Order: sequence, then structure tokens, then C-alpha cells
Amino acid sequence: MFYIFTGDGKGKTTAALGQALRAIGDGKKVLMIQFIKGPWLSGEDESCKRLAPDFELRKRGKGFVGILNDTLPRKDHEDAAQDALAELARETESGAWHIVIADEINNALDLNLIAEDDAARLVDIAVTKKIDLIFTGRGAKQKFIDRADLVSEVHDVKHPFYEGKKARRGIEY
Ligand code: ATP
Ligand code: MG
Repeated sequence: MFYIFTGDGKGKTTAALGQALRAIGDGKKVLMIQFIKGPWLSGEDESCKRLAPDFELRKRGKGFVGILNDTLPRKDHEDAAQDALAELARETESGAWHIVIADEINNALDLNLIAEDDAARLVDIAVTKKIDLIFTGRGAKQKFIDRADLVSEVHDVKHPFYEGKKARRGIEY
């Protein structure tokens, strides 16, 4: 099955991580590859080590694209995202995983770091190999929404960020 977690509220990546936790309990092996998310570490980078080798989390991004303190050439972001997509395709093809998660791939598509046709090929591989595939991130493209078996949209009703509250370690990252 092909799943998408999208929307402007908090809970997309953590929903995918929760799905991984549940599947691992059922003896499944899960791979998450992250787009855009770069050198900084989140709580899950640590906790996933305790679930190895059933869960692997690989950060393949270079950080925020074109905002905040991003000084990298756009080409570096594109290369990283295209390499991440190629790696996802290889790993999905390999049959080593029951669930493959492409975290923040919707953002990578929205930013045109990767081509829609290349991401569609990843979906083709997952369908052919009968691997569960999850796309996360804001702004999911209609083409993928049409193709997905399940789409959940997390809507932002309220977030402490808008009251000037800083992101907290272990909650936001
Ligand atoms: P999480 O990783 O907590 O599940 P997410 O995957 O839904 O969040 P992203 O769009 O990937 O959200 O954003 C990553 C970071 O931004 C996280 O720290 C998340 O908590 C925070 N965030 C998510 N939604 C909002 C929002 N509406 N306003 C402010 N910050 C947000
Ligand atoms: Mg996320």
C-alpha cells in the first residue's frame, strides 16, 4: 500500500515513526530515509539505534532550502535529494524492507529538488515488490494523492510556535 501523511500541522513525521514502531512489533523491518533534514540530530536518531537492525533511519538532506541560514548552492540540495531518491529506489527494490518511509519527500517535490516522474518510479517499484511505502511532508502533489491508497492530512489548529514558544528537544526534534 502507498500512504501519504501531509498537511500544515504537527504530526506527519511522528505518525510515520509511530507506524514504524507498530510494524517492528509485528516482526517487520522498516527503513526511513529523510530528505532535507540535514546534519542536526533529533530524538529519533538516537532511539532508532535501539531498534536496530529492524529499523534504520538515514538522514540524506543538507538542511533548510533557501530559508533561514541556508548558504548552500541549490545544486547541493538537488544532488542530495536525487541521491536519496535513488537510494530509496534501490532499497525498495532489494526486498530487504517491509516498509519504506520517504520522510519530507513531499517538500522535496514541492521545492522541485526531485522530479515527479522519478518519485513515481519509486511508487512503481514499491507496488511491484509489494512493499508498503510512506510519503511524508507538507504540500503533497495531486499526482501522488491520486495514486495513494491512504492519505491523512494533519491540519494546524494551534501550535505554540505562534505564541513565540521555542521548539523543544524530544518533542519537536
Ligand atoms: P513532527 O516531526 O513533529 O511530526 P511534522 O513532520 O508534522 O512534525 P514538519 O513540517 O516536518 O512537521 O516540521 C518539522 C518541525 O516543525 C517539527 O519540529 C514540527 O514539530 C514543527 N511543526 C510542525 N507543524 C508546525 C506548525 N504548524 N507550526 C510550527 N511548527 C510546526
Ligand atoms: Mg516532518
